[in-house]
This record gives sequence, C-alpha cells and structure tokens, in this order.
Amino acid sequence: MNRVIKVLKPVGSGRKGIDRGRALVAGGAGFLGSHLCERLLADGYEVIALDNFHTGKRYNLAGIARDAAFTCVKHDVVDTLPMDLAVDEIYNLACPASPPHYQADPIHTFKTSVLGSINLLELARRHNAKIFQASTSEVYGDPLVHPQPEGYFGNVNTHGPRACYDEGKRSAETLFFDYSRTYGIDVRVARIFNTYGPRMQPDDGRVVSNFIVQALRGDDITVYGSGTQTRSFCYVDDLIEGFVRLMQAPAAPNHPVNLGNPGEFTIMELAELVLDYTNSRSRIVHRPLPVDDPRQRKPDISFARHHLGWEPRIALSEGLAHTTAYFEALLGGRQPIAPRSGRQAVRAAVMS
Ligand code: NAD
Ligand code: UDP
Repeated sequence: MNRVIKVLKPVGSGRKGIDRGRALVAGGAGFLGSHLCERLLADGYEVIALDNFHTGKRYNLAGIARDAAFTCVKHDVVDTLPMDLAVDEIYNLACPASPPHYQADPIHTFKTSVLGSINLLELARRHNAKIFQASTSEVYGDPLVHPQPEGYFGNVNTHGPRACYDEGKRSAETLFFDYSRTYGIDVRVARIFNTYGPRMQPDDGRVVSNFIVQALRGDDITVYGSGTQTRSFCYVDDLIEGFVRLMQAPAAPNHPVNLGNPGEFTIMELAELVLDYTNSRSRIVHRPLPVDDPRQRKPDISFARHHLGWEPRIALSEGLAHTTAYFEALLGGRQPIAPRSGRQAVRAAVMS
C-alpha cells in the first residue's frame, strides 16, 4: 500500500535557501539514492524521495529525515504515481542493482525498469521536467570491446538470469531517447560502472560489501570462479558528482554517458586489498562463477572527461577505508549516519 510518510509541503516551505526547485529521486532510500538526496538538499533543492523499500532502508535517510525540504514517499514506480507533483528535475534510480536482488523477482525487475521509466517519463512530460536515468555498464553485457566506450552496442544474453536487469536497462535507455525525440524532453542517461561505499547493505550481495563484511566477521571471502574477472570500482562521492555534472551540463548529450572509475582490478586483487585493509585473517575460498558473469569491465570515460570536466578522484584504497569504517560501525551496532545539523552546514561541507 502506498503511504505518504510526511505530508507534502509547498515548495520551499519552512526552509530558507531553497532556490533550485524541486527534485524527485526515485529509489531515494537506496545506496546511491540516499547520497544523491543529501547532495541535492545541500545544493538548494527541495527533495522528494520515492521508494518501495525493496532494497533501500529508512536509516539511509536518517541524516536528512528531519530536513524541512525533504519528503519521503513509499511507492512502487511500477504503479501509477501517487501524486501529480510539479517537479523540476527527476532522477530515476529505482531498481535493485545487486544480482541476487534483481534476480529474485526478475519479472518485477524488468517491470521496474520499463513501467517505472514510462511512469516517470510521463511525469517529466507533464511538467516539462529534466529527467535522469541511472543506466548501467551491464548494457555492455560480457563485453567484446575493452575498455567500453559509449558507442559499443554490447554483448548481452537476452534470456539468461541477468537479462531481466540488462535488457530492462537497455529498454529504459530506448524509452528515454524515444521520449526525448518524440516529446522534446530533456533526458540525461548515465551508464554507471560498479560503484561502492557507505550505505551499501551488509547483505547486498555485491562484491565490495560482501568482501568487507566477510573480512570484518572473520568469515571466508567468497571469490566466484577463479577471480581473474575484472571490474572497475568507483567511490560513491565521485559518482554523485558525475550525476550532478551530467544533469547540469548546459546541453543534453544525445547518447548515454559512461560514469565510472577506469582503474581496473581482478576480483582476486580486490579480495587481497580488502584483507589488507581490514587486517583480517579470513581465508579466500572459491565458489562457482555465476552464469553470464562478465569477464572484464572498464569504462572509457573520455566523453565525461572532456564534456563534463569529470573524472574520479578517490582511489580504491581511500574508498575502501571509508567503506570499511562504515561497516565496522554498522556491524558494531553503532549508528553510522549522523543527522545533519542544518542546511548551511551541509552546503559548506559540499563546497569545501
Ligand atoms: P540499491 O538497491 O541500493 O537502490 C535501489 C533503490 O531503488 C532502493 O532503495 C530500492 O528500494 C528502490 N527500488 C527498487 N525497485 C523499486 C520500485 N519498483 N519502485 C520504487 N523503488 C524501487 O542500488 P544502488 O546501487 O543505489 O543503485 C541505484 C541505481 O543505480 C539503480 O537503478 C541501479 O541499477 C543503478 N546502478 C548502480 C550501480 C552501482 O554500482 N551501484 C551500477 C550501475 C547502475
Ligand atoms: N563476486 C565474487 N564474490 C562475491 C560477490 C561477487 O567473486 O561475494 C564477483 C562476481 O562474480 C563478479 C564481480 O565479483 O565477477 C562483481 O560482482 P558484483 O555482484 O559486485 O557486480 P556485477 O557482477 O554486477 O558487476
């Protein structure tokens, strides 16, 4: 059932310094969504997070829940939107991102990407709002071109267990650019490569959170397959900066834009780094490689570098240290997300 957690307020009510308009973040209680909501509040937006809390958590929003410019609405984007809100910007991050989560109910995952995108695109159309889509490096499938530039069309299995996510996101890209061509909507599509950081769930199932949590608990580190497959890991703060730059770019690129860290690591290298950073005595064990697991992945970010002036700044070592500190607090029963002390404080932190 849909439930409005806080009664929606008129734009800017009870809050000084809101001057950027109203942004809707679908998937706002998730890992990336909660960081994005904080950033948008700090930048002067009124923010509405829309989430079905499938993989997102209320405690991700603990730092901003009391902010007068923030509202959270429980809703599944597959269903007709619960309100016809005048919004200036829409960010569509709603979709489980971890393979075990998106494969648990593949039909709903596919509907989330397709019907969710249509519902949000229709909202954008009604209000002439700019709209952002969180697409993914998974659109390249098991890539035959390395590193992957945006012009590469990919190598995706259309009927395997990852297809509900990969093909759902590919369809969403199609919808975004068709809405742009048909109705003149301003769309911004980011292809996100593996991103990690605080607020991933301990049971998320993705590799960075799995390895850190296993290492901190002294459990075996589960490397799937030989561990020679590669990924390129981007720290969340770098990615959010990329989102904002893509959304604020004066002209909308007429294609998706890769956002990720080009530093490429094998999964074995990651396991060893995590063991070092956590000082853990966990053992590395091997488990079967999931079906269709991509063998290599590394973004070509030339477009983002040249046109958005963006590139990641946070090295894997630094990002792992922040993420490990977060999980240490969480697993130790401490509240890892402190409430923000006020808008100006948040703003100052972002601008410094
Ligand atoms: P996440 O699972 O933490 O966040 C997804 C959020 O969407 C959660 O809060 C979840 O409850 C919500 N959600 C899921 N289905 C929904 C639905 N039908 N209606 C409303 N809300 C729904 O994952 P994340 O890593 O924060 O990913 C956010 C977005 O970025 C996703 O769209 C994902 O596909 C995309 N992405 C992330 C990465 C990454 O490495 N983190 C990489 C590529 C793409
Ligand atoms: N992986 C692993 N152990 C784990 C979780 C994942 O070896 O406990 C591997 C997985 O098989 C893949 C890589 O790490 O090769 C990245 O997996 P993740 O689920 O984080 O992201 P994706 O496969 O979607 O890139």
